Amino acid sequence: MSTVSPARRPSSLPAGTLPTEAFRAAVDQADIAISITDPQANILFANEAFMRITGYAPAEIIGRNESVLSNHTTPKALYRTMWTALAGQRPWSGRLLNRRKDGVLYLADLTITPLVDARGVTTHYLGMHRDVTELHRLGRVTRNQKKLIESVVDAAPAAFALLDQSGRVILDNQEYKKLVSDLGSREPAHRLLDALHPDWRRLLAEAPAQCAFPHREQRIERPGGRARWLSATASVVDMQSDCVDSYFCAGGQPGLLLMVSDISDLRVEQERARIEARKAVLAEEERTAAIREGLSAALFRLGEPMNMMASAVTVLQRRDPLSARVLEDALRAAGAHLESLRLVIPQSPQELPVGINVNEILRDVLEISTPRLLAAGIVVDWQPAPTLPALPGRPVQLSMLFKALLDNAIEAMNVKGWRRRELLVQSTAGDERIAVRIADSGPGIPEEWRNKAFEPFFTMKNGGQHIGTGLSRAQQVVSDHGGIIDLDHSPSGGCAVVVEFRVDGDPI
Ligand code: FAD
Repeated sequence: MSTVSPARRPSSLPAGTLPTEAFRAAVDQADIAISITDPQANILFANEAFMRITGYAPAEIIGRNESVLSNHTTPKALYRTMWTALAGQRPWSGRLLNRRKDGVLYLADLTITPLVDARGVTTHYLGMHRDVTELHRLGRVTRNQKKLIESVVDAAPAAFALLDQSGRVILDNQEYKKLVSDLGSREPAHRLLDALHPDWRRLLAEAPAQCAFPHREQRIERPGGRARWLSATASVVDMQSDCVDSYFCAGGQPGLLLMVSDISDLRVEQERARIEARKAVLAEEERTAAIREGLSAALFRLGEPMNMMASAVTVLQRRDPLSARVLEDALRAAGAHLESLRLVIPQSPQELPVGINVNEILRDVLEISTPRLLAAGIVVDWQPAPTLPALPGRPVQLSMLFKALLDNAIEAMNVKGWRRRELLVQSTAGDERIAVRIADSGPGIPEEWRNKAFEPFFTMKNGGQHIGTGLSRAQQVVSDHGGIIDLDHSPSGGCAVVVEFRVDGDPI
């Protein structure tokens, strides 16, 4: 092979013309295997890189057919396509399996260009090929790794979604796809992030690191199905851009990787345990309240004969002072006994106010009352406000309050022969207030009894047999929370109890 010095130029050539030797040297020294053949693919010329890649010496290769390089495992159809293109004087490119002189196989990326003379006849073929074995191996390794990662990610019991800086989901797995269909929402990642980190869109664009958070749980309502509890972890990942304009930039683009696991079963279990605990607390509190009310009612009613006896003492003092004194002593002893009885009336436990989600309390109370509601054949229309601010309150007291209102509604409708049995439980928020409406389709409370209904020991049930402290106790709890309670007509014909609280806990 000949070489030329680029600095030397024959003086006969005009300035700007490349000498023929330079062409020859360029082809000889190019770092790509170049061969020129006759129309039958017999090699007439091969450069240094060709010798290096194939392992043949010039004397061994010149005059031989290019097929000497074939390993004879490249599909025949591929050669047919090659030769069809060449016969049509079109260049052809493809990948072939070649064999070096020493028997080692290599993959060649080959381009063949037909050289056509002035008469339009193919006189030669120009072949250029590169050993791409290592490139192919790396490509395969990368593809295999990608497949492995994809199958691991797809087999993972958690859902993954990778979001780019504009919030677009650019990668996900099978579990995430299941989530899309289960929740009936186009992009569950957005729904979760909106709920868990409302400012995520702005932060992802401006300060991605602030979008990360570990294990946050969110309840997601599903249209016509059981709500799901999801636990999400967001982490920021550095991604390399695939745009050409970032080829020379070292830095990548941040992306947000969201990992979501379904903890519904766990939460259902926890909820069940919580409801059971609340049920036990309410049952205990109800028992205590019943004792308290029974004793208070007894003391209240004993007041009447005591007063009569006191009047009798006054009358007797003039006519029969001795009997009057005996009666007076008895009265004093009875008074002392009543007083000691008053002292043992159990008080409700002191609760510290905490931030309360009224929807949660109502949901719990409905859950606890479900067996009674089902047994009474009552259809419940539960309309919670989509979001409620926290109310500073005492959870047990408020649960007792709503349970008592619900019990009243159930009792009002659960009467033999009563047909319409509908219960509306609704919470609304607005104007710094939270309102709860419990409306039944029972017989309702007559207008004239509306105010009396809140008096202690008033009842209109069972011809006055019932102790009837429910509403007065409810009013006590409401006013302890600075709220108001009122009775109204229910659109379904019965009674509607409306309870309102200020969000800051101040009295209304
Ligand atoms: P072959 O008998 O050579 O041919 C197989 C098929 O190709 C047959 O169906 C036949 O009809 C058709 N065919 C063969 N020669 C011609 C022709 N001259 N005109 C029209 N059709 C024809 N092959 C490699 O395996 N590795 C290479 O690196 C390689 N480099 C090449 C570089 C150039 C510039 C050219 C022109 C060809 C090159 N070839 C290469 C193709 C090679 O010439 C053989 O066609 C191929 O190796 C198949 O060889 P074979 O002995 O299996 O079959």
